[in-house]
Amino acid sequence: MLRQGGVRTPGQGEISSPPPEIGYIAPSAIGEGSLSARGTDLKNRIMAKLETWIPRSRLPRLREVPSEGLLDDVNAALRAIPTTTITDTNKLIYNTATVISEMLGYKLNSDKGQYPPWRRRLEGKIKVARREVSQLTELQKGATNKVPKKYSKLSIPEALETAKQRLTALASRLRRYTREIEGRRINQLFSTEPAKVYSQWQGNNKRTAPPRLETEQYWKSIWEKDATHNGNAQWLEDLRADHSDLPEQGPVTITVADIQERVSSMKSWTAPGPDMVHAYWLKKLTALHERLAAQMNQLLVNERHPEWLTEGRTVLIPKDPKKGPVPSNYRPITCLSTTWKLLSGIMSAKMNRHMGQYMSGTQKGIGKNTRGAKHQLLVDRTISRDCKTRLTNLCTAWIDYKKAYDSMPHSWILECLELYKINGTLRAFIRNSMGMWRTTLEANSKPIAQVTIKCGIYQGDALSPLLFCIGLNPLSEIINKTGYGYRLQNGAVVSHLLYMDDIKLYAKSERDIDSLIHTTRLYSNDIGMSFGLEKCSRMVSKRGKVVRTEGIELPEGNIADIEDSYKYLGIPQANGNHEEAARKAATTKYLQRVRQVLRSQLNGKNKIRAINTYALPVIRYPAGVIGWPKEEIEATDIKTRKLLTMHGGFHPKSSTLRLYAKRKEGGRGLVSVSTTVQDETTNIQEYIRKMAPTDRVLSEYLRQQKPKKEEGDEEPSWKDRPLHGMYHRQIEEVADIQKSYQWLDKAGLKDSTEALIMAAQEQALSTRSIEAGVYHTRQDPRCRLCKDAPETIQHITAGCKMLAGKAYMERHNQVAGIVYRNICAEYNLEVPRSKWEMPPRVVENDRAKILWDFQIQTDKMVVANQPDIVVVDKQKKTAVVIDVAVPNDSNIRKKEHEKLEKYQGLREELERMWRVKVTVVPVVIGALGAVTPKLGEWLQQIPGITSEISVQKSAVLGTAKILQDPQAPRPLVEDPSLKDKPPAGACW
Ligand SMILES: [Zn+2]
Repeated sequence: MLRQGGVRTPGQGEISSPPPEIGYIAPSAIGEGSLSARGTDLKNRIMAKLETWIPRSRLPRLREVPSEGLLDDVNAALRAIPTTTITDTNKLIYNTATVISEMLGYKLNSDKGQYPPWRRRLEGKIKVARREVSQLTELQKGATNKVPKKYSKLSIPEALETAKQRLTALASRLRRYTREIEGRRINQLFSTEPAKVYSQWQGNNKRTAPPRLETEQYWKSIWEKDATHNGNAQWLEDLRADHSDLPEQGPVTITVADIQERVSSMKSWTAPGPDMVHAYWLKKLTALHERLAAQMNQLLVNERHPEWLTEGRTVLIPKDPKKGPVPSNYRPITCLSTTWKLLSGIMSAKMNRHMGQYMSGTQKGIGKNTRGAKHQLLVDRTISRDCKTRLTNLCTAWIDYKKAYDSMPHSWILECLELYKINGTLRAFIRNSMGMWRTTLEANSKPIAQVTIKCGIYQGDALSPLLFCIGLNPLSEIINKTGYGYRLQNGAVVSHLLYMDDIKLYAKSERDIDSLIHTTRLYSNDIGMSFGLEKCSRMVSKRGKVVRTEGIELPEGNIADIEDSYKYLGIPQANGNHEEAARKAATTKYLQRVRQVLRSQLNGKNKIRAINTYALPVIRYPAGVIGWPKEEIEATDIKTRKLLTMHGGFHPKSSTLRLYAKRKEGGRGLVSVSTTVQDETTNIQEYIRKMAPTDRVLSEYLRQQKPKKEEGDEEPSWKDRPLHGMYHRQIEEVADIQKSYQWLDKAGLKDSTEALIMAAQEQALSTRSIEAGVYHTRQDPRCRLCKDAPETIQHITAGCKMLAGKAYMERHNQVAGIVYRNICAEYNLEVPRSKWEMPPRVVENDRAKILWDFQIQTDKMVVANQPDIVVVDKQKKTAVVIDVAVPNDSNIRKKEHEKLEKYQGLREELERMWRVKVTVVPVVIGALGAVTPKLGEWLQQIPGITSEISVQKSAVLGTAKILQDPQAPRPLVEDPSLKDKPPAGACW
């Protein structure tokens, strides 16, 4: 029986009803009287929801945290709603989440793929336009004489041409809107869930659904197999005897502290299981923690749980895009109910604590305080270096399992839990739970089939990695008993490394390694798992050199010599220079990801963030484990900057140091490959030094390592550079530095705009003055437009009389327009629709009057009587005189003072004539974004809410537009580095 999005709950369409749940009554139910009004209201709403059953659907992710007060009231209300069973508590959590989401104004069950109205309108217009074109074409041919009304006054060729142009224009508009909407969508998604954007880039959005029937059969053949292990194997008999005297794990009790600890480590908004509850709600609904603990204990005591708890929803994620939609090419990731994730996480922590004493040190897939895969790679590196320097014999083998997680029989896992004396009640609980495991296979969010899991473990559950590691742990004991292995110079012996299903074996001779392979094979066959031979491999070295062999013959087939493309834990392994191969692979992938980021529609800040968190981890992983020559690192950083430049995101003459400085300090915030490698190397070195005293292999690693010189050079700052830092030094005296760079952090500009403004700040644009003075490629440094003054950036952005009338005026009006619209909104006056529309000179209602660029009649003559905006608040009897300026950044303070002085006369006149209290407010932003320390205070005196960032962004965008003005003549001397692909807007 399939029910999409629903949860089986007793009494709701269940065919074979499970045994009734034994419950627990929470002791903390409180009386109605102590609830606040809102608490009572919440309680009633939640109760009402509980009584009506509706199928569960995905709840919205909250964009803002609900207020503390609301959460307090919700928790108080929850304390007044008792629930006996975990099923009821889960229902309560879901319904409470629904009530809160609704209260906060989220629409539930809203279809995200909805067609936006603007698109429908535009597509309608295109359809009409297309029909008109074809009608007019027919008309021209003489096939008809019907003329579309719109074109009746035009001649036929003229009408046809107009109609065609109209169609092209509409189609272009649709494309532009779609691109803009997509850009906004992806930036918004990125700000909350960057991982989703990355996964789309990796091609996971174009999920081609696997064939239904084959997929169902494929997974049924794996999971519904009645597999058991060989209980009579000799080695198993021996192990049982070895373990018979071990003490059993003490009783397991779940406390409120356990719940809190586990809940705090869960991710708030990861995709929920079939119960549709995000972990977020478990975190916030703290009133339920106590009963959750008690009800979970009750489940353990009963040794069973209701079925819905482990009912999964399995998403099939494609592995290799080249292999296409064959069932074996998908990884089955299962989402389980949030309540189960809570319980299984707690159980896993308790079992882990007990297993600590038995878990083999060679197993690094789980456990705290180790660096997992990296630890294994360090051990591996120690061994291969030892072999090369001492010219010893070394034989290794890589073992791969077919469908490792999905093929480990339940009987074997339970046998292991007994071998390692996991608490008996817990064992019984897990046994009963396994008997109920089942999941719904899903592709493209549609259910395919329900499958029972009789064999293997859920991928995606907190308990699974532990169960899997416990199932392979006896192998470690057996291998250790053989006494084989490779001996390092300091006497430490390594025979094998386990990392989840990755197994690597080490021995000193071909005979020994083959014996280890046979032992592993026997163990695996007896526990019901088989090798994936094509991914197994072997390597034989004699006196430090790799020799070719025929491989090893097993009953199932041959394990061949290692090939060049073999990877262990993601790092290439081969007989040649595999470190170089690893570096090359990482660098290629890194650059490919950088290109992907730069081609995206993310804004400037998000692009940098994506490079830092999506591309750089590719470098970080092998760093520290393999050596990385300085020249290679630098070459990759140079290549990164070239790519940025090619995509218009970095001006070639701009400051490199500033590119890597933090955004809050005026930089772009990019992290270099060089910093990444250095950081990770330092981390790994610290880890090795910490572990070496207790880990003989790592202490050997430390010994092998040649001591390195510490590089203590203080990095120079871009702020000290003569040209690049000039702007910074100039505005330091007049501006609030932190706020002046705020646009980098908050404006969300395109990377090309960021690059342009920064290049302007750094004097990195080719103006005539720079060409003459710095590069000596030009005689005449004067402005190409006015020929009056040297053509500097300052002159172009705020000092040229040829630009004052139109370009500067437009920028000024944009900034003033923002302030104006905010004032209108404050007084409920009609806000101009477009930001390009000039506001009316006077608007008025009974609360206020706003004048825009209005010449004010005065009794006495005053110096200035036409400020940008005058607001009169009729009720408060106040007036605010606002004047906006976008001067040179170094002049902002002077300008602010000037404006204040200039309107004092008008202020006195107005107070006298109109009998209101008048304030003069200057709004001054530097052309390149500098902000005076007082701007915030000034803006607060203006009615309505105008943020510093909004006016700053507007000014900076206006300046960018001036710098990109196609009217401006291009420089005569081309910068050769710009020849192929000029960065967007580098005209000056
Ligand atoms: Zn000029």
